Amino acid sequence: MNSNSHKNSKKLGQCFLKDKNFVKKAISSANLNDEDIVLEIGLGEGVLTKELAKVAKKVYVIELDKRLEVFAKEVVKEYPNVTIIWEDALKVDLDSLDFNKIVANLPYQISSPITFKFLERKKGFDLAVLMYQYEFAKRMVGKEDTKEYSRLSVAVQYHADVKMVCKVPPTAFSPKPKVDSAIVKLIKKNPDYQVLDEKTFKNLLKALFQHRNKTVGKALVNSAHELNLTREHVKEFIEAYSEEFDFKERVFKLPGFEIGELSNLLNKFISKLPKL
Ligand code: SAM
Repeated sequence: MNSNSHKNSKKLGQCFLKDKNFVKKAISSANLNDEDIVLEIGLGEGVLTKELAKVAKKVYVIELDKRLEVFAKEVVKEYPNVTIIWEDALKVDLDSLDFNKIVANLPYQISSPITFKFLERKKGFDLAVLMYQYEFAKRMVGKEDTKEYSRLSVAVQYHADVKMVCKVPPTAFSPKPKVDSAIVKLIKKNPDYQVLDEKTFKNLLKALFQHRNKTVGKALVNSAHELNLTREHVKEFIEAYSEEFDFKERVFKLPGFEIGELSNLLNKFISKLPKL
């Protein structure tokens, strides 16, 4: 491999899964049967794809790197139930594909946007079994009052039940990544609490977790711009609802449903502001 193509491979997160035990683990966690239609992101050398194709009715694989065409040809020849889509996964309209499960060893540089693309797919999905960088996976499953608890934890757990299946060492891949990985299982669900406006909820998460160790009140004032409000308006908001919400609590201690309540109070406050 020349140095340019080596750089490309790194940019595309091309650490291929070699240890068959972890391939098996991913497959068994997905409880696949011959009615399932699976989406995989990233063909690599097709190691995971072939195992998926053996048990599922159909497998769609989205792969960006045409240099992997030789592996694609071999996989499709052996397993006609595999369709390869040569595209950037972030640009594909996922509602145009008819899948009910997702299994993938993800390119880590797109972990966050691709996960939200899955979770916000209009058609939903039953479950996803995905490989992430271990640190990222820990934040996905993080609970309030722990150091892993983050904006990602609340946003992912709003849409899905999330479980860490197992940690995966660098030796399971070739080339070996510098970091540990983990297999995570997501089961899509209807949210446990009601949020009136998801955009406000998202902005609020960003505003709060920029100051995760501060009190909610301080975090909101400092991140007023994320809420498209002035600091004065945020102070008014805190005053107006201080009986209904404890603004002195630290951000990292707030469970998701309380952030949902805060988001709804914020909507109520904004709706009463004079229109510009
Ligand atoms: N599934 C294979 C395996 O387990 O060995 C490959 C996994 S490797 C971590 C990630 C794969 O995703 C690579 O084949 C890479 O070329 C591909 N990839 C990277 N960015 C992508 C993107 N934006 N859209 C689609 N595929 C992408």
